[in-house]
Amino acid sequence: MARIDLKGLAHSYFPDPKTDEDYALRRMEHVWEDGGAYALLGPSGCGKTTLLNIISGLLTPSHGQVLFDGKDVTNLAPEERNIAQVFQFPVIYDTMTVYENLAFPLRNRGVDAKRVDARVREIAGMLDLTGKLKQKARGLGADEKQTISLGRGLVRDDVSAILFDEPLTVIDPHLKWVLRRKLKEIHNKLRPTMVYVTHDQVEALTFADKVVVMYGGKVVQLGTPQELFENPAHTFVGYFIGSPGMNIMDCKIDDGAAWVDGQRIGLSDRLLEAVSKQTGKIELGIRPEFLTLETGDAAKGSDGVDVNIIKVEDLGQYKIATTRFGASEIKVKLGEDEQVVGQSGVLRFAPEWTKLYADSQLVA
Ligand code: ADP
Ligand code: MG
Repeated sequence: MARIDLKGLAHSYFPDPKTDEDYALRRMEHVWEDGGAYALLGPSGCGKTTLLNIISGLLTPSHGQVLFDGKDVTNLAPEERNIAQVFQFPVIYDTMTVYENLAFPLRNRGVDAKRVDARVREIAGMLDLTGKLKQKARGLGADEKQTISLGRGLVRDDVSAILFDEPLTVIDPHLKWVLRRKLKEIHNKLRPTMVYVTHDQVEALTFADKVVVMYGGKVVQLGTPQELFENPAHTFVGYFIGSPGMNIMDCKIDDGAAWVDGQRIGLSDRLLEAVSKQTGKIELGIRPEFLTLETGDAAKGSDGVDVNIIKVEDLGQYKIATTRFGASEIKVKLGEDEQVVGQSGVLRFAPEWTKLYADSQLVA
């Protein structure tokens, strides 16, 4: 397995790119450690497939280099890079049996029959395909065909990396959950370098040790699921990760505090000091988990932000209250037993979890 270095990597599909907008991938510099499980997470069109195809060699980047274990592979074809790739839709041979499909990547490389048999049975066992090994692929459903594609991606144990491009798109929700857990198990057992593309945060956060969040052709944060939750480096990460995402509001800094729509929100001294050096548009961000909402008698005399309560949704394990003051709509996560009385209340911001962003970047 390999460590992957992306050096000054950028890509434009245009022959003569001029502005940032001409780039599907903006310049990036990253090291992905050997044996890591990485998820590339971001909305449709942000450049995930472009980046994956550059790593696999299906696409040559217009700028920069890709290194595997320090060796420049930028101009090598996929076959020469020793990687396995699993695509969004099944890539299998309909006329072959499930066994033959799984064996193909090994036989193709001249692996001896005994070893082929052992690996095919091991992978089939992991993916619950053992009972279907003798069946022709033709008659199988889309789910099963895609499971075979996953198996073909996993069957070799000598690849530098295994790349997955939204591999569970055609799989039904229950099986999706099962396969995601299997992939995680396989990763823990065999420790291949895995890069897993998805637009689904749940998928990314359950699969990966490290999540690479992409937005508009840029990597906006690379971190553990906990880092993305606790310290979003960019407002997009705050908003995209979490359910619901981070509350983000325009604010002004004045008189030792943040002001949002005329209401005062206290900040730590450290943050005040850091923001004093910033220019650019300042926004305040706080996750729904770090707000408390007081209503009824508890709200009387409380200092905090006065809000109107628009609605309270009971989601079983917890409740989400939607509140408003001025132009800001703010979501608050409440415990399942917390009661909300009346249509107004006071919001309290935990200062240690109140973040500031300057031109969308975390002020740290
Ligand atoms: P994602 O996989 O995150 O949905 P892509 O990497 O497929 O994103 O696309 C990133 C950007 O590059 C998009 O704006 C897309 O329209 C553009 N793009 C992708 N493939 C091509 C191509 N072959 N030619 C021109 N533009 C492309
Ligand atoms: Mg894609």
